[in-house]
Amino acid sequence: MSSPAVIPSTHSAAGQPLSGEAAAAARAAAKKAKADAAAKANTEKQRAAAEALWKAKQQERLKRQRAATAARKAKEKKEQQQQKAAERMLRKQAWPVAAQRHAAAAAAVAAAGLPVLESPVDEPGCWVLVAELPLGKKSYGGFRCPSEQCDGEWVSAHAFNGKWQQCQRCETEALPEQMWRNDNPYQRRDGVKSMLNKPHHQGRCQACREFGHGCWLRPELEGL
Ligand SMILES: [Zn+2]
Ligand SMILES: [Zn+2]
Repeated sequence: MSSPAVIPSTHSAAGQPLSGEAAAAARAAAKKAKADAAAKANTEKQRAAAEALWKAKQQERLKRQRAATAARKAKEKKEQQQQKAAERMLRKQAWPVAAQRHAAAAAAVAAAGLPVLESPVDEPGCWVLVAELPLGKKSYGGFRCPSEQCDGEWVSAHAFNGKWQQCQRCETEALPEQMWRNDNPYQRRDGVKSMLNKPHHQGRCQACREFGHGCWLRPELEGL
């Protein structure tokens, strides 16, 4: 705030009117003081106006920034949606290929004289000969006891390509001969069917013995 302007009086301190010359000088001084005050008020006004303008600009800038951020997020979301849609489309297009692969895998399994097994999961995939999968891969496995006196056959939810499980009838070690392959390699095996919902015999499982703990605790090996 500006201090009030001191306006020179046309009267002496004692209250007597000043002489003509002195009064004129006092009037001129008063006029000048008034003009100064007016100029000062005007400057204040301009400063306030400039401040208001600056604030408005600042808010405008913030508004623009927020709008830009919102637009960028919307763009990213749209791109993600487009990417997902493209992936869905790819999966759809891949479907006939998957069906051909299923047929080829089933033919190979049949040609090897292996039993036809039920699908262990609800998601698309197929049983394949273990030769088609990398060693160490974890998945569902179909086993047959190699002993000539035993006709034990089983499916395990925790089979490893190249690792044996022991036959529950005669304890002979058997390697998986066919294993389940999901069409989607990122598919985790959440939809375990009840037929496989049985206890895992850790003592009869090479992987469990080697790991020193339940072999189902190595889900990363499913993604091989
Ligand atoms: Zn056996
Ligand atoms: Zn095991």
